[in-house]
Amino acid sequence: MKDSYGRKIEYLRLSVTDLCNYRCIYCMNEEGVEKKRHSDILSIEELTEIAEAAYSLGIRKIRLTGGEPLVRKGLITLCRNIRGISDDIELGITTNGSLLPDMAKELKEAGVDRLNISLDTLNPDTFRRITRTGTIDQTLNGIKAAIDAGFDNLKINTVLLGGINDTDVFEFLRMTEKTPVQVRFIELMPLGVVKDWTDNRFITVDFIENYLRNAALIKVDGVARVYQLPNHRGTIGLIAPISNRFCASCNKIRITADGKLKSCLHSEGESNLRGLHGDDLAKAIEQGILTKPLQHHLNDEGTATARNMNEIGG
Ligand code: SAM
Ligand code: SF4
Repeated sequence: MKDSYGRKIEYLRLSVTDLCNYRCIYCMNEEGVEKKRHSDILSIEELTEIAEAAYSLGIRKIRLTGGEPLVRKGLITLCRNIRGISDDIELGITTNGSLLPDMAKELKEAGVDRLNISLDTLNPDTFRRITRTGTIDQTLNGIKAAIDAGFDNLKINTVLLGGINDTDVFEFLRMTEKTPVQVRFIELMPLGVVKDWTDNRFITVDFIENYLRNAALIKVDGVARVYQLPNHRGTIGLIAPISNRFCASCNKIRITADGKLKSCLHSEGESNLRGLHGDDLAKAIEQGILTKPLQHHLNDEGTATARNMNEIGG
């Protein structure tokens, strides 16, 4: 369906938990999050019903996120349920990759089409500094497990953090020489714990373009400009939510693990979906889509959401 500005809404980011085994410095507080009561987060049945209702409204791409989606009990069942709705749905997961060595094969068999794996650095010490609790081998082994399981269209999400991982760009570009993945550099967004960070932490993707003088722009894929260096198997994507606001082509809605629909990542507006079923649920999602604002106001007023990113899902 279309929103009130004529944008075709086809993409749902569905958060299955706000919990995570990492504590990334730009995503949540060091203490992590207080575990909610089981009854306060959407059950696997409710998540499935939401996916069905969204499909009936024209959603064709569903990405499971979190928190860390792979820590959610019942995730495999949910993937199977969503795949059971239709083969027409492109089902993806965004993950920190740490649990993929045990789960990649099962996820593939459950019908997951795509994985995006977050990896902000190739330096083990910087990895620990960013994730606070993780070790780089967990995520690197996860990437390997995903490739071995047959995910041949992997994307690596790398958030640019000035003064922290900006010295890693060259290593990431080298990674694309032999590894058939797309490394996507993403601008840091000033919300939640990041709101008060100093300006030098925010760098734009123009910075990466300096490294891409020999690369060819091969396509524009949704919100990403995709480049490839000569004789490299992988590609490089640039995503610029801050320096190049892409609201005019935004086709997404988000649903939080506690059942709130957010029509824009940066607005405070949320509508409740819990307790709704069938037509009522579909109507509530439709209403939510119709409230989608024209654009965010990050560059002037700042974000309006009070949530940290782990509570939204990226
Ligand atoms: N735990 C999973 C992961 O890390 O991939 C999924 C959830 S995480 C919130 C989704 C994505 O949001 C990750 O790629 C993460 O790097 C990104 N992210 C978190 N906080 C961000 C921020 N302030 N600005 C930009 N991206 C952010
Ligand atoms: Fe966890 Fe992902 Fe947030 Fe890192 S970015 S703390 S891995 S939810």
